[in-house]
Formats: sequence, structure tokens, C-alpha cells
Amino acid sequence: MSEPTIFSRIISGEIPATVVWQNERLIAFHDIAPRAALHLLVVPKTEEYENVTDLAAGNPALLAEMVATAATLAAEHANGDYRLVFNSGASAGQTVFHVHAHVLAGGLSEESLA
Ligand code: 5GP
Repeated sequence: MSEPTIFSRIISGEIPATVVWQNERLIAFHDIAPRAALHLLVVPKTEEYENVTDLAAGNPALLAEMVATAATLAAEHANGDYRLVFNSGASAGQTVFHVHAHVLAGGLSEESLA
């Protein structure tokens, strides 16, 4: 067994996070190093998928639920406009290999591409 990802440790409650919403499949919490006025991470509770390409191929309904969740949270926590970022691969900035969406809203600039 490989080590649980940092996000699995948040999901299990081992590591604290500011959780704003969750259901059986997804959890959303504030990024520890926000790059916008609102910076949430929407994360599947399964660590089966490393990146958005794997998720889209393996469970497109879960990817669609992530997008719908991002929109709902951007409406609840900001004005409804949002940028959705999936970093895929280390050279694209991915540091946690457990698929997650960055939901960025408010005060966005080119530097906030996560
Ligand atoms: P990535 O670079 O893989 O696209 O995004 C990983 C994100 O997870 C980063 O924006 C980073 O700030 C965030 N992050 C890493 N460790 C933690 C943590 O322990 N708690 C929270 N809330 N966010 C984290």
C-alpha cells in the first residue's frame, strides 16, 4: 500500500482543514495557501484518480459533480464567477497526486493560475 495522500489525511480527519461542504463523494475546503480572495479545493474522497485526465476517463459523472459543486460554492462564497484549475503533472504545478479542482474567485489575476 502506498502512503495516503495529504488530502486523504484531511478526509479522514487526521489533518485539520477548513471544510466548507462535503457529501459521500466529495469534500471542499479552503486551500492552505490561497491565491485569490476565495480559493477552495474540491476533492473526491476516493484517491483512485491522480489527475483530471484519469478522472474524466474513469468516472465522468464524478468530474461533472465536481464542476457543479465548484459553481455552487462560488455562488455561496463569492459572486458566482470562478476560475477552475486542474494542475496535471509535476511540471504543470501539480504537487498533490490526488485529483482536485482549485476554485478561485475574487481578485483574480494572471498570477492566480494556481
Ligand atoms: P496542486 O499544486 O497539486 O495543484 O495543488 C495542491 C494544493 O494543495 C496547493 O494549492 C496547496 O496549497 C494545497 N495544500 C497542500 N497541503 C495542504 C494542506 O495540508 N491543507 C490544505 N488546506 N491545503 C493544502
